[in-house]
Amino acid sequence: MFILAGISILILGLYIGSFVTAVAFRIASEEKTFVLRSKCDNCEVVLSFLHLIPILGYILCKGKCIKCKKSISIKYTIWEVLHGCAYLLNFYVFQNNMLAFFLFCSVTSILFLISIIDIQVMYIYDIHIIILFIFFVGFLYSVGELKITPFSFIKAGIPLCFKVLYENIRTKITKEKVIVIGIGDIKLFTILFFLLDFSKSIMIILEAGLIGMLFGLLKRQVDDNHYPFIPSISLSLYTLFIWVFL
Ligand SMILES: [Zn+2]
Repeated sequence: MFILAGISILILGLYIGSFVTAVAFRIASEEKTFVLRSKCDNCEVVLSFLHLIPILGYILCKGKCIKCKKSISIKYTIWEVLHGCAYLLNFYVFQNNMLAFFLFCSVTSILFLISIIDIQVMYIYDIHIIILFIFFVGFLYSVGELKITPFSFIKAGIPLCFKVLYENIRTKITKEKVIVIGIGDIKLFTILFFLLDFSKSIMIILEAGLIGMLFGLLKRQVDDNHYPFIPSISLSLYTLFIWVFL
């Protein structure tokens, strides 16, 4: 029964992952016409239902568009698989609390969405942060970890204060305008500092910094002023909560 449920959750995760990936790339490319079916990047033919079956569709079509025969990037399939696996892991961790499972899956999907968009266009939309905030509040409530006190409001100001102070000092010293961390990243940190206790917030920053450094090394980016930090924060937030409830 558990295995059957697991397989169902994995398939659900793959399908939602496929949807989230398509939406994220659509938003990143600022496409106005919003068809939910995915399209070929090259000839723009709307992909058939066969293509849309996660993984299997990719294998059956040998990774190529049926019309123009151009290769379809494997990156979509990789995101889908990661998303599916995340849902499966969520199920394993929160199997005794279905509300927490549902809400944490929603948080997971939003983290995927903002991460993909940030990697593509280095931007995070306010509406996505607000939706993340709502589901994250719900999740924390469902596991009895929602503790908002007057101190939360003070904590919430820390990321922005840090940004302003640190960048001003560095700008004064180096006489060059320094932007260490984007305002989108600060907004995300603000809601985390607001909702989480101090130790968890600091752990997320440290882990995100570490993951960011690893990604940076892998990508060997010389221009380190422009670096998508949201995926590191998302992964750090995700793994922290999996770790806590495992
Ligand atoms: Zn095509």
